[in-house]
Amino acid sequence: MSNSAPEGKSSLPVGKLFILSGPSGSGKSTVIAQALADPSLPVRLAISATTRPPRPKEIDGQHYHFWTPEQFENGIRAGQFLEWADVYGHRYGTLKSEVEPFLQKGQSVLLEVDVQGGMQISKVHPEAVLVFIQTSSLEEYEKRLRSRRTDNEASMQKRLASARQELQTGAKHYQHHIVNDDLNQAVAKLKEIMHSHIGA
Ligand code: ADP
Ligand code: 5GP
Repeated sequence: MSNSAPEGKSSLPVGKLFILSGPSGSGKSTVIAQALADPSLPVRLAISATTRPPRPKEIDGQHYHFWTPEQFENGIRAGQFLEWADVYGHRYGTLKSEVEPFLQKGQSVLLEVDVQGGMQISKVHPEAVLVFIQTSSLEEYEKRLRSRRTDNEASMQKRLASARQELQTGAKHYQHHIVNDDLNQAVAKLKEIMHSHIGA
């Protein structure tokens, strides 16, 4: 597939779109933060909108756009989302404004979304690179979520209950797989995947 903008529009190549998914507690946010801290990797993390309340230390507009259910509903009606989904009892969605203008400018974008979101986006952007992250054992998710101390018991149980289904979807539909047992290795693997697709 061609990676250039249509003739007459722009001579800039279109940026690459990366989608990273994995069960809650697999280490997505941690691995992404470390990989994108490398200035040699020209990739921007898209900030999703969510109705989930912020965790301590989460900043509006930096970790998520924290929206009320009404704001989110208005965003859906106004066609602001590339995709959205109910995940673990709250709504999460990818804003078009966080993705399309950057790709058109030639900048690569990384989305951290659940597998439903990944599947929806890959219909609109079949060229997107799908990356799945997991641990080598199911027990590890619970250990990590408990040590993270950000979720109450009910939220944690919802997250753990979804892991098997997410792992099945990831195994079937995702192109790259990272096992995050060793954090440094997982970060290196994500960087290697992105570098190989960007050619940088
Ligand atoms: P996710 O974004 O997938 O829900 P996080 O990045 O929040 O997961 O990681 C969940 C917890 O596991 C955090 O406390 C994080 O510090 C920890 N963690 C991440 N990667 C590893 C790893 N390789 N080994 C041990 N703990 C890890
Ligand atoms: P958390 O509450 O732990 O930040 O995220 C919960 C889940 O929502 C994770 O699987 C995360 O990838 C997913 N998520 C975050 N943003 C989006 C989004 O914009 N769309 C979808 N579909 N899922 C998202």
